[in-house]
Amino acid sequence: IEQAAFQNDKLAMLGKIAAAIAHEIRNPLTSIRGFIQLLNPYLAEIGKQEYGRIILSEIDRANDIIYEFLNSSKPSAPMKQKVPVDLLLRETILLSESEAHMKGCEIHYENFAPGLTVAVDVKQIKQVLLNMMKNAMDAIQDVIGERKGAIEISARPDGRFAAISIKDNGKGIEKRILSRLFDPFFTTKEAGTGLGLSVSYRIITNHGGTIQVDSKVREGTEFMIYLPNVE
Ligand code: ADP
Repeated sequence: IEQAAFQNDKLAMLGKIAAAIAHEIRNPLTSIRGFIQLLNPYLAEIGKQEYGRIILSEIDRANDIIYEFLNSSKPSAPMKQKVPVDLLLRETILLSESEAHMKGCEIHYENFAPGLTVAVDVKQIKQVLLNMMKNAMDAIQDVIGERKGAIEISARPDGRFAAISIKDNGKGIEKRILSRLFDPFFTTKEAGTGLGLSVSYRIITNHGGTIQVDSKVREGTEFMIYLPNVE
């Protein structure tokens, strides 16, 4: 619990700093982006288009980080409403389907508890679920060719909680990095921001819930989200 509090404090502080400077950083990034595009023909002349492409994608990554931080660090009070877990999951699946299809990955969903209901900020929780789906698809991308990608989603009651499970058969997570997974900026991806899980963690703990992860290298990963359920 102490570590969780520390993580949330750290994230809130980083969020404030990011919000304060984001605007000032965005403007020069936008002009750098524009000028690099103007330089493209010259880079092509000397056979260095690749440099231009790298610069643009790195600028876009910096912009993504700023954008995600601004989005997640705003101290927006959760707008809670009662909603069936089934509805949250169906909408998440609907939004992930086309990307999953493109990436050759199947989504299976089983609702073991039709009456399961939570009181949550729907936008925030969907952000968490979509982020988990994206991570699952990324992990599957790395083993495609070895097996067919599959994401299994399920929900069931667990005491006073609704337990949502998102399980993939992707590359899995090495034990030595498990403890850093939820740290702000921790990423193993070339173009990752490392913000998805830290922000998700904060959203779920703000709802009085928790996240657990279980993983086996080369077999897959299961994320479990626990949210207080309501009658
Ligand atoms: P990002 O996706 O930008 O890297 P996240 O905070 O969402 O940021 O994830 C942090 C790291 O956790 C990822 O870089 C990846 O190494 C690991 N990870 C998260 N979800 C999964 C998953 N389903 N399978 C394997 N690794 C994962």
